[in-house]
Amino acid sequence: MSTLCWIRRDLRLHDHKALSMTLSGGETSMVFIFDSHILDNLKDKNDPRVTFIYQSLVELEKELQKHGSSLFILYGNPEEEIPELAKKLKVKTVMWNRDYEPYAKKRDAQVMKNLKAQGIESQDFKDSVYFEKHEVLKNDGGIYKVFTPYKNKWLELFEASDRSVPEYKPLLKNLKQHTFKKNILEHNWYPEIGFQETLPVLSGGRKAGVKRLKKFAEQITDYDKTRDFPSLDGTSLLSVYLRHGVISVREMVTLAASHSSSGNRTWLNEIIWRDFYHMILDAFPRVEKEAFKTEYNQLSYPGGTREFKAWCEGQTGYPIVDAAMRQLNATGMMHNRLRMVVASFLCKILLVDWKKGEAYFAQKLLDYDLASNNGGWQWSSSSGCDAQPYFRIFNPYTQSKKFDHEGKFISEWIPELRHLKGNDLHHPSPLLAPSYPPPIVDYELNRKRALIMFEKLKKS
Ligand SMILES: Cc1cc2nc3c(=O)[nH]c(=O)nc-3n(C[C@H](O)[C@H](O)[C@H](O)COP(=O)(O)OP(=O)(O)OC[C@H]3O[C@@H](n4cnc5c(N)ncnc54)[C@H](O)[C@@H]3O)c2cc1C
Repeated sequence: MSTLCWIRRDLRLHDHKALSMTLSGGETSMVFIFDSHILDNLKDKNDPRVTFIYQSLVELEKELQKHGSSLFILYGNPEEEIPELAKKLKVKTVMWNRDYEPYAKKRDAQVMKNLKAQGIESQDFKDSVYFEKHEVLKNDGGIYKVFTPYKNKWLELFEASDRSVPEYKPLLKNLKQHTFKKNILEHNWYPEIGFQETLPVLSGGRKAGVKRLKKFAEQITDYDKTRDFPSLDGTSLLSVYLRHGVISVREMVTLAASHSSSGNRTWLNEIIWRDFYHMILDAFPRVEKEAFKTEYNQLSYPGGTREFKAWCEGQTGYPIVDAAMRQLNATGMMHNRLRMVVASFLCKILLVDWKKGEAYFAQKLLDYDLASNNGGWQWSSSSGCDAQPYFRIFNPYTQSKKFDHEGKFISEWIPELRHLKGNDLHHPSPLLAPSYPPPIVDYELNRKRALIMFEKLKKS
């Protein structure tokens, strides 16, 4: 009897835990479901993330056809679709890689239940993170809520394994030989799923992901020196490939561990932050809906629609914030330094609830990932488990001068300011830039308002 491998956020045939397990057991078919629950919640039917997934599936189908196989594609509710397909194919077991998001956990538990009711086995595996929740624990067996000791333990475990990163090689010769009539090379799935092809700024597919990984390998040793400057090509831009599992987290850890430079170590640190946030979401699923520090749920942010709209549209009158938001709106990308700056600015200067910003990022980011996005917002708003202290408020002018010293990034995204230089670019006067909005709020005044708001909360 054969096995079915259900792929979701692991769109590759290489170094794939569930696929290597199914194939080692014998003949395997593969399926991908355009999950109607997820897709129906996406408001923009021109969402480039859907095209990124689509492109990745096209490439995967080409690879499968080289092996005489094909990917089943379905659109609908996985709780029903998976058991139905498993029954039709008469498989003994269905396997997949774990997803730690609350919706996915609930869905997968239901799929398991429905399969069991039909007498079909199921099994899931760790694949999308390096270490899972139960692997990196405090000495007393508890969950870490602070990053640095978590990281130290993570590294301790990694060293204890002699830094040997597992690689799961699927036995592709065991792929079931068949042709799927509605395969993605011959069938246009866009109308069926209700989306339009919209090319993302980074193309999907493993070839593009591997190319980027190789390119970054040439510059990783400088990562610690270049990573904070948005106008430099200093970061890997791999987050979207990792998000959809076009490349594996183990391939990234292998690269990070390939050299002992401070650039490599700093990059590994970022991958550990990702594991940390996935672990937090898995252990405390309530963070999807509320602040980790529950007292922060009482905050009533005074900032309103006017401030939020200006922030979303890149019209706040603070150049570094506006440039970053305009880049996000145009490309779905934003540099990590700027994510921190705009997030801090929204909740601590515009005094708008961070959850609104989190939801806006979720709508726009090409690399949107619930765990990392939620973790980033909870950190920036000081409401998270290991967050920035409430009194640390990024000064957008200082950040701008420090990390975009020559104003290259600002000039790229704000044409109204291109004629300015030096301090005028970072802090433009309305006289010099009449077509650019004046600051929507007074920075110093609102900074003080934020501190009063947070201090009141501390005392309550
Ligand atoms: C408010 C806010 C929201 C964020 N939302 C997301 C999101 O939705 N999806 C997402 O992948 N990242 C998110 N991040 C983290 C980070 O900004 C991005 O991972 C990074 O900018 C991606 O670019 P890169 O691939 O060039 O990263 P690199 O600098 O090359 O880092 C390598 C990898 O490490 C991981 N990583 C890096 N920084 C972080 C971090 N701070 N937290 C968790 N993982 C990290 C990513 O997977 C990244 O691809 C957010 C950060 C903040 C402050």
